[in-house]
Amino acid sequence: MVQPRILILGAPGAGKGTQSAKIADRFDVDHVTTGDALRGNKEMDISHLDLEYDTPREYMDRGELVPDAVVNAIVDEALSQADGFVLDGYPRNLEQAEELEGMTDLDVVLYLDVSEDELVHRLTGRRMDPETGEIYHLEYNPPEDPAVEDRLVQRDDDTEETVKERLRVYRENTEPVIEHYEERGDLERIDGEQSPDEVWADVKETIEDAA
Ligand code: AMP
Repeated sequence: MVQPRILILGAPGAGKGTQSAKIADRFDVDHVTTGDALRGNKEMDISHLDLEYDTPREYMDRGELVPDAVVNAIVDEALSQADGFVLDGYPRNLEQAEELEGMTDLDVVLYLDVSEDELVHRLTGRRMDPETGEIYHLEYNPPEDPAVEDRLVQRDDDTEETVKERLRVYRENTEPVIEHYEERGDLERIDGEQSPDEVWADVKETIEDAA
């Protein structure tokens, strides 16, 4: 396995972004993330698709899933340009999982397992430094520099109300995806409540073992 094709699953706040960045760096693969791709194209005009809303933002700010037609196209394009990849934030429902099967094979499917109470705590305390893009947590990982602390912003969808909706959408749409891979015997379950370094040690070992 020269450049592995890795899928990372887990609820919002499970640590997929953090671990994916480390995977991309260590295994020299592309980080393909639908969340970041959509955040960078929030105002994209999708009115020609004749859906409920005309931009991704309107779905995202409500904590709802952006329609499959939009997301599938983003992933298809990104994967066609990558030799190896870590795919993060997709598939989020069984239709997307089926779509992915038509696009590529996978070498490893990781699942970061984190309890719901911990997810709420992590997401509502999450903040970003708009100047560096660095992610902090008000309690677990506050910035040392007071100037950084003063300029921190919260992601539009990390408010308590939207977090609850995102987790509801996750339970309803994405948990069946986890079960789908589990039934196929492909799922590598990792304890996502450990420290980021401990999670990384498990993630790295699991990918190396699959090689
Ligand atoms: P994330 O950063 O992965 O938590 O994604 C943020 C938001 O982007 C989600 O709440 C959805 O509105 C949208 N989104 C990201 N990935 C997908 C996907 N695979 N399918 C549908 N919507 C998505």
